Amino acid sequence: MTTLVWFRQDLRTSDHDALLDACARGAVVPVFIWCPKSEGGWPIGGAQRWWLNHSLRRLAEDLKSRGSRLVIRTGDPAVELASVARACGAKRVACSRRYEPAAMADEERVAELLEKSGIELCRIGSNLLFDPFAIRTQTGTAYKVFTPFWRACLTRPAPDAPRPAPATIPAPAAWPAGLDVDALQLLPKIAWDAGLRQMWTPGEAGARTRLQAFVAGPIGQYSLQRDIPGVHGTSMLAAHLHFGEVSPREAWHAVQKAIRGRAGEFIANAEKFRAELGWREFGAHVLANFPRTAEDPLRIDFRKFPWRTNAVELRAWQRGQTGYPIVDAGMRQLWHTGWMHNRVRMVVGSFLVKHLRMDWMHGARWFWDTLADADLASNTLGWQWAGGCGADAAPYFRIFNPMTQGKKFDPDGAYVKHWVPELAGVPAEYVHAPWEAPPLALAMSGVTLGETYPHPIVDHAKARAAALQALSAVSGKSVTASDDV
Ligand SMILES: Cc1cc2nc3c(=O)[nH]c(=O)nc-3n(C[C@H](O)[C@H](O)[C@H](O)COP(=O)(O)OP(=O)(O)OC[C@H]3O[C@@H](n4cnc5c(N)ncnc54)[C@H](O)[C@@H]3O)c2cc1C
Repeated sequence: MTTLVWFRQDLRTSDHDALLDACARGAVVPVFIWCPKSEGGWPIGGAQRWWLNHSLRRLAEDLKSRGSRLVIRTGDPAVELASVARACGAKRVACSRRYEPAAMADEERVAELLEKSGIELCRIGSNLLFDPFAIRTQTGTAYKVFTPFWRACLTRPAPDAPRPAPATIPAPAAWPAGLDVDALQLLPKIAWDAGLRQMWTPGEAGARTRLQAFVAGPIGQYSLQRDIPGVHGTSMLAAHLHFGEVSPREAWHAVQKAIRGRAGEFIANAEKFRAELGWREFGAHVLANFPRTAEDPLRIDFRKFPWRTNAVELRAWQRGQTGYPIVDAGMRQLWHTGWMHNRVRMVVGSFLVKHLRMDWMHGARWFWDTLADADLASNTLGWQWAGGCGADAAPYFRIFNPMTQGKKFDPDGAYVKHWVPELAGVPAEYVHAPWEAPPLALAMSGVTLGETYPHPIVDHAKARAAALQALSAVSGKSVTASDDV
């Protein structure tokens, strides 16, 4: 019996339930179908096209080393899968389940259409630790708050141990025709990808190297260091996890192994990391159960929030030219590397939504195009958190003060100075608010505000007051108290 394995966000050979199941039944034809349309309103963004190009190459090489091939097609997945199946006499297609609204709808459609040709679509496994429809509150509803959600996950049986890749993958008698990765034209025409090339090694081997390096080192100080953007204190696994180059089960068990024989503090750090994997699960849970939220706030009272539009300010935010150093550093890090530190994502998110009072969707869309780890569930969760309108979100009246955040989490200004080099000479005490520096100190550091570095595009105190006033329109009462954190 021949089975097609339809690869999507599971671009690996180890711990792949659908692939292992197929191998146990006979010949296997691995297939990838390029169809941005099937992602609904969220076709893959620029940074991820770059990632996908390299990841597919690595997957194709890995399959080849196991006696197999990756058959690449473009077009409607239902049509292409049926065509490949016909070409090799397969009656079965296996895939890992996805939970984004468009992907779920597409899976249903593909299953129905394949069935008409006598082909069965079998959904085996997923890119998550827990089934987002199986975790329920005591009243049977989906969770909207992280802590009880994660507690409920942890009461379930622990995720299975990851399974090794098949040493060889049984080949069909004849291979169906397919395209080369180049034919998908995923790479940018203008070479803006130098920063990504420097930073990332897409593919399963690169993912495993990152995971091993993290559990061998930074995990021991994760709780503290994960908040310091100038330190390499996080796993940087998000894009690898998104593309399924490493399974969350493998990450979970790598942590379990690292914990063995270690003391309380190490374990607390490791559990903190596992809880972040839990936030990834939570995002998937919220999106799967509230599919409208990719484009609509979970808290529907926020539909009437009086957002502003201002193309000039939006562009200044996107390009890291707001005049607020920590915001600009984050936006430039994102543009250059396809990644931004989580603490800074929260700061730039708050700045867009509260200081500039622009719809969180502008931010979500920009991140979608520029993040290598753009993930519909995590991105929606993150943006609605920043906007105060999502599940377990920061209250809207909690307004991140970019200067306080900078001083607290980047006290020596190392992060800002790296990403905003025009401020490299500014003394650390002023680097998060250069307009407060004595004129002589600024001049000696080669900074002329308005020329070498912008003046702040909005005044913090006025922007905060305006944001609270706008919030009154949602809550129906005057909101004056603010947490300026
Ligand atoms: C506005 C905003 C947008 C975001 N957009 C995305 C996105 O598109 N894709 C994405 O993967 N994450 C997103 N995040 C969450 C988080 O910032 C990244 O997952 C994290 O910075 C990735 O770096 P890391 O792999 O080193 O994380 P680590 O700190 O090493 O965390 C380990 C893993 O846990 C998961 N994780 C950690 N924090 C979160 C979180 N808050 N929500 C969901 N999962 C989490 C990720 O898979 C991550 O790789 C967003 C956060 C905010 C505030």
